[in-house]
Amino acid sequence: MRRTHYCGNVNTSNVNEQVVLEGWVNRRRDLGGLIFIDLRDREGLVQVVVQPESLAYAEADRVRSEWVVRVRGTVQARPAEQVNARIASGEVEVVAEGLEVLAEAKTPPFPIDAAWRGEEDPAVSEDIRMRYRVVDLRRRALQRNLRLRHEVVAAIYRFLDREGFISVETPFLTRSTPEGARDFLVPSRLQPGQFYALPQSPQLFKQMLMVAGYDRYFQIARCFRDEDLRADRQPDFTQLDLEMSFVDQEDVLELNERLAAYVFEEALGVELPIPFPRMTYAEAMNRYGSDKPDLRFGLEMHDVTERFRGGEFRAFAGAEAVKALVAPAALSRREIEELEAIAKGKGGLAWSRYEGGAFSGGIAKFIPEELARELGVQEGQTALFVAGPWRKSVESLGAVRLELGKRLGLAQGGFKFLWVVDFPLLEWDEENGRWTYMHHPFTSPNLEDLELLERDPGKVRALAYDMVMNGTEVGGGSIRIHRRDLQERMFALLGIGPEEAQEKFGFLLEALSFGAPPHGGIAWGLDRWVANMAGEGSIREVIAFPKNKEGRDPLTEAPSPVAEAQLAELGIALRKSDG
Ligand code: ASP
Repeated sequence: MRRTHYCGNVNTSNVNEQVVLEGWVNRRRDLGGLIFIDLRDREGLVQVVVQPESLAYAEADRVRSEWVVRVRGTVQARPAEQVNARIASGEVEVVAEGLEVLAEAKTPPFPIDAAWRGEEDPAVSEDIRMRYRVVDLRRRALQRNLRLRHEVVAAIYRFLDREGFISVETPFLTRSTPEGARDFLVPSRLQPGQFYALPQSPQLFKQMLMVAGYDRYFQIARCFRDEDLRADRQPDFTQLDLEMSFVDQEDVLELNERLAAYVFEEALGVELPIPFPRMTYAEAMNRYGSDKPDLRFGLEMHDVTERFRGGEFRAFAGAEAVKALVAPAALSRREIEELEAIAKGKGGLAWSRYEGGAFSGGIAKFIPEELARELGVQEGQTALFVAGPWRKSVESLGAVRLELGKRLGLAQGGFKFLWVVDFPLLEWDEENGRWTYMHHPFTSPNLEDLELLERDPGKVRALAYDMVMNGTEVGGGSIRIHRRDLQERMFALLGIGPEEAQEKFGFLLEALSFGAPPHGGIAWGLDRWVANMAGEGSIREVIAFPKNKEGRDPLTEAPSPVAEAQLAELGIALRKSDG
């Protein structure tokens, strides 16, 4: 008695065949003496009919939802009026001749059968779902998402293998690799008082592989970042990490868009137009108020700084930037107030409605006449303005743009990719009063800007790029510094003195002095990729065993206290907490 088919694969081509199926009872119903069992496995479900005279009847009468059973029977076509178009096997059923219970099951904490029958799953709180993840993972949506994830990874392997990439594993127990987050530390038992850090990314290892001559590397890599968990972060997450030698920026972008197109075609059957548009950071910020613009809708911002410069309206007259946006709707006071709360920029959100061929309300009397035409504002629409320091202004109006896109239902449908390029190399860190890297300290400055490096660091462009999908950053990378002297200059700029550089990154500097090829690469946030492809709002829906918003795993209850003896072995004593 070996399984002959997956339940979900039984179809009209099997009519009159003897089959053996194994799976879970999705649902059992008694109807006028007949017992109907929807038997389910990962491929779907098939209806099993048990007749009163069947040998299977006594056992079938006993089974409940989620019991595991083996059924032997004959496939028959369903009469036309009983065909169920919502499931793939809906034209057939299996008439049971034998039924064996392989395992009984507790009543599941929440129902999981609906989606398998082509209906909607009831809403269940995420905490409960994560606590009973094994049951949750039986749900159709998660089975689909994890299959999609597999398809994506399989396609990545096929493509990169063909393109001459070699997959190499890099260590988990290692030294700190700075990507702008805190490290997770692992105490060493053999060297008491010393710690490994879990990698925030394989960055330094992949660069060393390039120095070692591997030319093209990739890895589906787990990364660890101890960050404050924003809505959609995981302390451990997955990247597709890759690196290439003897390339320039364009080579990396070109390979990655072909890879993206291949993955979409293979995993979703969707054709992505390539090449992706490229937009500089400055342009993205100016037009969309974001370095990861959602291009599924327009609503572009206008720069109107000069129109107000030196004018009557004091709040705008001297501002570094004044930005405007036309909402294609007459917004109510209340809506404007809500948008105001989103635009946290200095000076808040100013507005005026265009009615009867002129601006009225809000700051109408300060708006220069020619602006209506420049903004292309139409009857009944609302113009919104933000003024202040450039970055703050564009970002706050950018946030308003996104919110409007959401409210007006503009951000829908399709996949809109782009590359954002020419990021600044450095940004000023107010808190610590020094320059800090925008990507990571190994990113190459644009060599055209090299002479500005010490003179005007804020102006230096990086050879760094982000891949953006529907307003989400789904990948980021750069051309690296491959010369030791330049890397040392960069460390100095970041306030990392020679000793500290030697102590933390001596191994990298040494590698660079052994003859490093020019190289560059990228990492994709794989969880986010798959979530976007699956149309899921959260990456937790595409991770088999995720952590919750507090960074805990309600299933295994990690993190958890450890025994005193284990700590003693590690030479660790816990401090009494103050609270
Ligand atoms: N290591 C970088 C990151 O994790 C990616 C890269 O530069 O390739 O963002």
